[in-house]
Amino acid sequence: MDRPVPVLGNPQNTIAVLQKYGFNFQKKFGQNFLIDTHVLDKIVRAADIKEDDFVVEIGPGIGTLTQYLAYHAREVCAVEIDQNLIPILEDTLQAYDNVTVVNEDILKVDLKRLAEEKNGGKPIKIVANLPYYITTPIIMGLFEKHVPVESVTVMVQKEVADRMQSGPGTKDYGALSLAVQYYAAPYIAANVPPNCFMPRPNVGSAVICLTLHEKPPVQARDEKLMFQLIRASFNQRRKTLVNGITNFQGLFYSKEQVACAIEQCGLSPSIRGEKLTLAQFAALSDALSLL
Ligand code: SAM
Repeated sequence: MDRPVPVLGNPQNTIAVLQKYGFNFQKKFGQNFLIDTHVLDKIVRAADIKEDDFVVEIGPGIGTLTQYLAYHAREVCAVEIDQNLIPILEDTLQAYDNVTVVNEDILKVDLKRLAEEKNGGKPIKIVANLPYYITTPIIMGLFEKHVPVESVTVMVQKEVADRMQSGPGTKDYGALSLAVQYYAAPYIAANVPPNCFMPRPNVGSAVICLTLHEKPPVQARDEKLMFQLIRASFNQRRKTLVNGITNFQGLFYSKEQVACAIEQCGLSPSIRGEKLTLAQFAALSDALSLL
């Protein structure tokens, strides 16, 4: 491989680039740039980037992780919202002929079309040190729009990574855990302290790898209803499942109907939503969908 070895990823080189362009960090874009080569190596390893992969990077910043991805992958498309970073990226990525930078909001990019054009419609890999203010909309957007994705390997707030990976009955278990686990198998590849970023975030971070299921682990007759029930159950955590569902806007079941469906699933009428597995939510939504 005759591609240049990545040179960004340590504090000195990052500072030099920032000074050369007089770049000012924008808090509103969640800009915390990686300055640790070990973490960068770990991300690339967790994403299992191969020579034939087409990778989409969300928020390349000054191109640090992009260099690592471009070194290992066939092609990288990096989507960056901040136009002040575009001239910097042209500079830091000029030696890589397999990178395209798109100056756009990732939430507005048609990734399905991109996968079609650049990867013949085959599932793509998503890799990012995500801007934390839109972690959930980005990840849920990928899933719900059914973008063909093989895996999503991303740096997120540690607390969010824990929520994605948690199971029933734990304090972190919630609607995000169930939504993520419906679409993918989560695995925390590394915990990353604040000193690996510039500027330092106020929270701990983690690299999470989400490998998409070929087909969901449970089948619900009405997927939309199942997700409404999940949201209803965690909307008022301290309430019983019956009260959570009957109080939820958009669902119009009586207490008796909900209690009857819960009983049909072999569950206690006083159970709380946080105790239910994904399979039990699917069974409950099937029971309610028949009413
Ligand atoms: N990848 C770089 C790194 O690791 O050093 C930067 C990561 S920084 C946490 C997040 C990046 O996402 C920033 O460059 C920021 O400008 C960009 N960003 C924020 N919101 C975005 C959006 N809606 N669409 C695309 N990029 C976005």
